[in-house]
Amino acid sequence: EAKQRGDQRVHAFDHAMEQALEGRLRLETALRQAIDGDQLRLYLQPQVDHRGRLLGAEGLLRWQHPERGLVLPGEFIPLAEETGLILGLGQWVIEEACRYLVGWSRCPQLSRLRLSININVQQLQHPHFVDGVAAALASHGAAAGRLTLELTESLLIDEIDTAAVQLAALRRHGLQLALDDFGTGYSALAYLQRLPLDILKIDRAFVQRLGDQPETLAITRTILQLAEALSLKVVAEGIETPEQHLALEGLGCRIFQGYLFGRPQPREAFEALAKGKAAGYALEASEGRNSS
Ligand code: C2E
Ligand code: MG
Ligand code: MG
Ligand code: MG
Repeated sequence: EAKQRGDQRVHAFDHAMEQALEGRLRLETALRQAIDGDQLRLYLQPQVDHRGRLLGAEGLLRWQHPERGLVLPGEFIPLAEETGLILGLGQWVIEEACRYLVGWSRCPQLSRLRLSININVQQLQHPHFVDGVAAALASHGAAAGRLTLELTESLLIDEIDTAAVQLAALRRHGLQLALDDFGTGYSALAYLQRLPLDILKIDRAFVQRLGDQPETLAITRTILQLAEALSLKVVAEGIETPEQHLALEGLGCRIFQGYLFGRPQPREAFEALAKGKAAGYALEASEGRNSS
């Protein structure tokens, strides 16, 4: 009888495994179809300066699934990374970014906006990545100088020097480079020392602890000083409250991103914000402070 119970357990386990594998396979197939089937969206989250002026946006990937609705990257990027589908997704993001930039360049109210997109390490490590980005920009007629690539601290230390060569080439093409989620990885300082960068993005984990942890304030101040010493711009992300905004401003931060200034939104909504409400938006964001 004990043996029988054991067998049942093994069967239950096999069944769960099978279902998990099947689920992954279904997701993988669906994700492949998403790329060809016009189900991907590049949402835009506003980035503003210290006067509340709109500087541009970060593009964030969404999957508009026919049945499941809007799916967030956390639910499909990990599998895309495992299966190599990330390269196809990444290519789509680059092309879409080019289309946005070209559209903006034709409209006086939008032509100064910058766009920042997220790049996966696998993309960066691909031997033709730099040529691919340059080719996409050229074929669409988009200005490299308006595009920023964000990368996270997920490179291994011994991959840094190879990455640095690729990044230097991208910069020669006129792109700007940002280190995303700064402060959350293991090797933050090694990255700063060895990669050619333009921008540091302070992770929202720091921003959200600013109010209740004095040491977080000290660390954030140090990050800003370090950035200044290295001539890097700083973007603080994940700002949700006016208190967080004020604290960061007090520390000398000049570029902000977070729900307080706008959620990630479809292109049309972002463009309407940039066009129609640009003036009101600036007033609203600098409310209660001197408009220096
Ligand atoms: P990330 O690049 O650090 O993007 C910022 C994330 O924080 C976004 O989540 C954004 O929606 C969220 N966020 C922004 N402001 C706030 C705020 O005030 N409060 C809170 N709680 N969250 C805020 P999202 O869109 O779910 O993206 C998650 C991550 O997925 C991104 O983190 C990025 O690493 C990755 N990702 C997104 N799009 C792409 C893409 O096109 N390619 C690649 N390779 N990765 C992407
Ligand atoms: Mg990012
Ligand atoms: Mg980030
Ligand atoms: Mg992140």
